[in-house]
Amino acid sequence: MRNDELLALDRAHVWHPYGPMPGRTDPLVVESASGVRLRLAEPTEGQAELIDGMSSWWSAIHGYNHPVLNDAVRGQLDRMSHVMFGGLTHEPAVRLAARLVEITPEPLRHVFLSDSGSVSVEVAVKMCLQYWRSLGRPEKQRLFTWRGGYHGDTWQPMSVCDPDGGMHELWTGVLQPQVFVDAPPAAYEESYAELLRTEIGKHAHELAAVIVEPVVQGAGGMRFHDPAYLTVLREACDAHDVLLVFDEIATGFGRTGTLFAADHVGVSPDVICLGKALTGGYLSMAATLCTSRVADGISQGEVPVLAHGPTFMGNPLASAVACASIDLLLSRDWQVEVKRIEAGLREGLAPAAELPGVREVRVLGAIGVVQLDHPVDLAAATRAAVREGVWVRPFRDLIYTMPPYVTGDEDLARICAAVRAAAAAG
Ligand SMILES: *Cc1c(COP(=O)(O)O)cnc(C)c1O
Repeated sequence: MRNDELLALDRAHVWHPYGPMPGRTDPLVVESASGVRLRLAEPTEGQAELIDGMSSWWSAIHGYNHPVLNDAVRGQLDRMSHVMFGGLTHEPAVRLAARLVEITPEPLRHVFLSDSGSVSVEVAVKMCLQYWRSLGRPEKQRLFTWRGGYHGDTWQPMSVCDPDGGMHELWTGVLQPQVFVDAPPAAYEESYAELLRTEIGKHAHELAAVIVEPVVQGAGGMRFHDPAYLTVLREACDAHDVLLVFDEIATGFGRTGTLFAADHVGVSPDVICLGKALTGGYLSMAATLCTSRVADGISQGEVPVLAHGPTFMGNPLASAVACASIDLLLSRDWQVEVKRIEAGLREGLAPAAELPGVREVRVLGAIGVVQLDHPVDLAAATRAAVREGVWVRPFRDLIYTMPPYVTGDEDLARICAAVRAAAAAG
């Protein structure tokens, strides 16, 4: 298909994330991707290829077209690409579940595989609400979270996303009213810890669970906070009989410098959500893990089953590539890689702090953020980065990057230069 034909059809028929219909700005057409490079169907701003600074939204941690991951998909494709999971099981899903139990914090033991991060959060919420129902406490059905979060775009996840994100105003009266406190400060403050304890205590009688993104709040504002708050949440939840859910869909699999963000302080949640990098960015899959306490509670209730079962649950292709991606990650010196990227981002993004209009530069693990003091001019910022040969996708007042862990030092320097250029232009 010619590029202009493709774009005309795209504009007329295809929704893009958070976009209007018909589309108002043409997306770039990607023809193929390999390593850390996206090959464009038509050169743009003089660039035929772009270095990927986004890992396709946290997911492609090993880069694209990776021979090991390709082999995992091909090998599984020849055996079976899918089979229903009701009444049937198979090695890829079982191996993946066992592997996830092994690498996530104790005592998470039971795995529900679904097809996307948002669904894994729905499942986590259903688990928590049903747990309390089974125990004869159906009034415990609200969720507690801090502002600035993002948990996905389906209804329950939306209800715990940052209420100032715009979505909430549109859906007043439709979304479940949850309990919010202020977003966590970056550094540890005893007064904020006390606020968490007090508010969890005050609402405990109606709370099913506390749900947060540990250490890094992603799409809600790319904010970082002291992991010590996780210990505070764990203790408050234990003291007041509330379940604790960690949404590690963005932070899982090494992105913040530890395998899971919970590992920064060794805090175990009752339920954890994983997604994004789970399959190395190859296929859509997510997982919700829970403890035996939660599973037993549900299974001993009046309705002794977890009534959820997506058609593509445990998809063999996705399971196989997820196993391969985890093995690949753990076989590499991923901590060293993430530390190297962290150092590169610190050095490369620091000069951005001197640019007019830049409010803050922050780096944690393989995540770099330049926050402006105004909403970014998306078109101008994107063009500036593309001119430098780099793909980034700013939003709100944020120009940020989370490159694949395999990004080399030279490419990393180019990503930093492009983020600086985008910040200057946007
Ligand atoms: C992306 C994300 C989700 C939603 O995952 P999808 O696969 O897009 O449905 C939920 N929580 C967090 C923290 C995320 O980053």
